[in-house]
Amino acid sequence: MNLILLGGPGAGKGTQAKKLIDKFQIPQISTGDILRAAVKEGTEMGKKAQECMNAGTLVPDEVVIGIIKDRLAQPDCKKGFILDGFPRTVPQAEALDKVLVGLGSKIDHVVSIDVNEEALVVRLTGRRTCKNAACGQMFHIKFTPAKKEGVCDKCGGELYQRDDDNETTVRSRLATYNQATAPLIGYYSKPGLVRPIKGVGGIDDIFNQIVGIVAGAGCSCGCKH
Ligand code: AMP
Repeated sequence: MNLILLGGPGAGKGTQAKKLIDKFQIPQISTGDILRAAVKEGTEMGKKAQECMNAGTLVPDEVVIGIIKDRLAQPDCKKGFILDGFPRTVPQAEALDKVLVGLGSKIDHVVSIDVNEEALVVRLTGRRTCKNAACGQMFHIKFTPAKKEGVCDKCGGELYQRDDDNETTVRSRLATYNQATAPLIGYYSKPGLVRPIKGVGGIDDIFNQIVGIVAGAGCSCGCKH
């Protein structure tokens, strides 16, 4: 199963992707995580990406397309994958289609998680993320606090606030989403791939809706298409 999770920053793509990994045993591919690792390692790519990431704008298409091309060619993607944060522009989606044709594969589902903007600001500015890259579990200081402040419930790693989870950068990321990424809903609607869901409510309820969609049980409105 090849799945794209679409939605604004903070819509819950990463949280849902982590649950889907456990359920379907397929990898999550987050270009944001890959870029943050490159920034941490201080690679050339990381240095170039950091400025865009701190400003809440997009890293150039050719950089992220290169990342995805390499990642999808790895053996663990043969059984399927969950794309989280890619594609973010129409040219990225077009490039992805080409890469997948080359691999004899295609996108099966695009789940679009819808959350209103002010809720996203509250979610992102209160978000705390596990520093352990292999874990990356997310918490919220108010809605889903860690049992012990600053410590990940899952792996004991240190929790931190991402540099781009401050209000100024969050507003810029939302504007970028509306301008560059929202048109992907139209792009994937043409081949009939988009399944919209409301990204509010319990994490498990949202997860069950996604599982229902990918299992072919119809969309979140209860119809059977
Ligand atoms: P995320 O962790 O998905 O919220 O991404 C954090 C930041 O990384 C974004 O605000 C962008 O600056 C950059 N980024 C991640 N994925 C992409 C992408 N597909 N295209 C361009 N920039 C990206």
